[in-house]
Amino acid sequence: MDTDVVISGAGPTGLLLGAELALAGVRVRILERQKTRHEQSRALTLHPRSIEILELRGIADRFLSLGRTVPGWHFAGLSRQLDFSALESRHGYTLFLEQARTERLLEERARELGVEISYGHEVVALAQDSDGVDVEGTGPDGDFRLRAAYLAGCDGGRSEVRESAGIGFPGSDGTMSAMLGDFAVVDQDELAAAERGSALIVPLTSGLTRFVLTDPKRMRVPATEPVTFAEFREALTESAGTSFGIAEPRWLSRFGNATRLAESYRKGRVFLAGDAAHIHFPAAGQGLNTGLQDAMNLGWKLAAEINGWAPPGLLDTYHAERHPVGQLVTDNTQAQTLLLELTLVPDYQRPVHALRELLDSLLDIPEANARLAGLVSALSTSYPAPGDPLLGTRMPDLPLGSARVSELVHRGTFGYVDFTGDSTAQVTEGWPNRIIAATGSKHTWTDDVAEALVRPDGHLAWVRRESDPPDAAAREAAITAWAGAAARR
Ligand SMILES: Cc1cc2nc3c(=O)[nH]c(=O)nc-3n(C[C@H](O)[C@H](O)[C@H](O)COP(=O)(O)OP(=O)(O)OC[C@H]3O[C@@H](n4cnc5c(N)ncnc54)[C@H](O)[C@@H]3O)c2cc1C
Repeated sequence: MDTDVVISGAGPTGLLLGAELALAGVRVRILERQKTRHEQSRALTLHPRSIEILELRGIADRFLSLGRTVPGWHFAGLSRQLDFSALESRHGYTLFLEQARTERLLEERARELGVEISYGHEVVALAQDSDGVDVEGTGPDGDFRLRAAYLAGCDGGRSEVRESAGIGFPGSDGTMSAMLGDFAVVDQDELAAAERGSALIVPLTSGLTRFVLTDPKRMRVPATEPVTFAEFREALTESAGTSFGIAEPRWLSRFGNATRLAESYRKGRVFLAGDAAHIHFPAAGQGLNTGLQDAMNLGWKLAAEINGWAPPGLLDTYHAERHPVGQLVTDNTQAQTLLLELTLVPDYQRPVHALRELLDSLLDIPEANARLAGLVSALSTSYPAPGDPLLGTRMPDLPLGSARVSELVHRGTFGYVDFTGDSTAQVTEGWPNRIIAATGSKHTWTDDVAEALVRPDGHLAWVRRESDPPDAAAREAAITAWAGAAARR
């Protein structure tokens, strides 16, 4: 084998997956078609669960120090905001951070951990057998071939890995498109004074100004059709009554609502994550966030398999857990896009206005707001399992003396907390280097939890309630089901 895992694509998903694998000592090589990192940023947001997973590795501050936070986010462009600050999280906000910066920080992290990233290397074909995957590509020195135990396709919506592996990508073609433009020159006085119409205007940290336009006259133009500066300026003027003096376009792009979800996130030794597994309109900014969370779910499981301690079936839980999340995201973005699309149809102006007012009034109900906020922030993402309703939910980042739960999993291990007794010795001796154990004191989270096993991705693998007496054999069985067999004593 040339390496344990080849990752196709150095976007946010591939970079985080590479870092997660390397953290567990796995040899990983990322192949990226582009010659250099992307300078443009499609995404501008990191939502709460993404910040939480970065916190689980102790690197959230790197991202927070470069962006700015807002307490909520929109859903379908409704006037009433989703309130992330009301959700139970230490990170109840959206971080405005351009994708290019997010990628730079993820690349730094991956390189620190020893990931080899090869720019200018395109994956063009693959063949897998029972022992590994042959990956064929083209690079600066000509064609190449690599053999790895596993291949992860993090190569975006037009994924070659997905195609070559023969994984279906059912869904629908786009019915509408929108345009974005990043400009170096904008008349700031006009910007401050003018009506903005349907244009969304975002100052970027790079000093550029982004305009996003949904234009009734152009909404049926295929997303593949390039945008010209003249077209953009005309559409902006029609929408806002002024072109805001835009000049020096740095990026013009059209994007649409084609929506597809891979039928399987795994085929043998090939995995899909991020846009390679799901595409949709960027409604409420969820694509990059979902990709990061795919990577976080897959990384430790694939590493466990390669490092030889994965319990049977662990690797299959990746598809079982993340495909339903992809379904939720592709469904909610389609619902949002339909509302947006109807808003642009002149005949529906009045009824759609009424519908929007009705939905806004529902978002005034805290429970309704929290339901959608949980969905978009991904804080309500759960991987339910038979037994206790807490299983599969996010473990809150509770204080443990001067530390916190998240610190237990900084190195990609499991975390174990005993809140009422001290069974940490059994856990530490049984699973050295695989579980970091700590005692916790009485907490308000759910005050009858006596013991908790936290997965490396921060979800709960096992809990014991106080009503059940401590039981070393039951504990060992529960831990073995997730963290593999205990070391021989
Ligand atoms: C206008 C717009 C705004 C958006 N805003 C947001 C937002 O605010 N929040 C959010 O969460 N999401 C947003 N998104 C979505 C987000 O940009 C994507 O979901 C995200 O980039 C997906 O990351 P990825 O790593 O899975 O794929 P990508 O970012 O597409 O990365 C894939 C990488 O694979 C490389 N590659 C492709 N083929 C090959 C090959 N054969 N061999 C080697 N390398 C290859 C590509 O060059 C690329 O670098 C937005 C999207 C658009 C279009």
